[in-house]
Amino acid sequence: MNDCSTQVAPTGTVYLVGAGPGDPELLTRKAHRLLGAADAIVHDYLVAPEIMALANPAAELVFVGKKGGGFCCPQREIESILVRLARAGKNVVRLKGGDPFVFGRGGEEAEALVEAGIAFEIVPGVTSALAAAAYAGVPLTHRAHASSVVFLTGHEDPTKPDSVIHWEDYGKLGATLCLYMGMKNLETITRRLQAGGLAPETPALVVQSATTGDHRQLLSTIAKVALESEHAGFGAPAIVVIGEVAALSTKLAWFQSAVADRAGVCASAS
Ligand code: SAH
Repeated sequence: MNDCSTQVAPTGTVYLVGAGPGDPELLTRKAHRLLGAADAIVHDYLVAPEIMALANPAAELVFVGKKGGGFCCPQREIESILVRLARAGKNVVRLKGGDPFVFGRGGEEAEALVEAGIAFEIVPGVTSALAAAAYAGVPLTHRAHASSVVFLTGHEDPTKPDSVIHWEDYGKLGATLCLYMGMKNLETITRRLQAGGLAPETPALVVQSATTGDHRQLLSTIAKVALESEHAGFGAPAIVVIGEVAALSTKLAWFQSAVADRAGVCASAS
């Protein structure tokens, strides 16, 4: 007969889960179920507190990152935390803002899990470009205006001589461009897009904290958006949507006014 006391716990599974852009109702049912059942949750700053409130109260919470200059756990360290927790027999939810495979380093984490022989699943989430566009009233494709969409990161320093993104080329595509992490370098990026041939009056929409109570949006043009958004105090987390479709937000915006109405109700009630 086996001596059970010497048996080690079976290795757990790691779920790389997208938490969506902020509004807890945009969480998938699968993400909700896994959060409620997780033994451990490894999360970062982009995940809203209302979503963390859905977690199994007994789950071990491991915080691995804060925006802008604050504590940020190195990527390799995050990967070894996931491996260690799974080897301790825990089912782990690695919770990320938006979608884990869109500018979320989910690919690197999945590769590390494969190398360590840990079972994993990927749970997609509503990525912030889709959510920002939907809540701001911008159809990313439209038969009259755009038939392709590009997701780009503005995180890379665009003045680097060996910059991997050739911004000038994207100015020629006629696609809707969705810029993640683009606020810091917006001036250079929009200048390079214009150098590539994008007309200065092309509409550009900044959407900050999309889908949350702090949602704000600003419609401008690529010639003016960097300056105007800076003057209006816009900052991360924000998506910039560039292309003719962005102008439809003047007609189709529905969420910003709902947020303003709610704020008005709260102000008049207090
Ligand atoms: N995996 C995430 C992206 C992470 S990169 C996703 O799929 O959405 C972080 C960037 O995402 C931010 O700098 C910002 O550009 C964008 N972002 C995340 N949440 C956002 C939100 N609620 N509103 C606008 N942009 C957001």
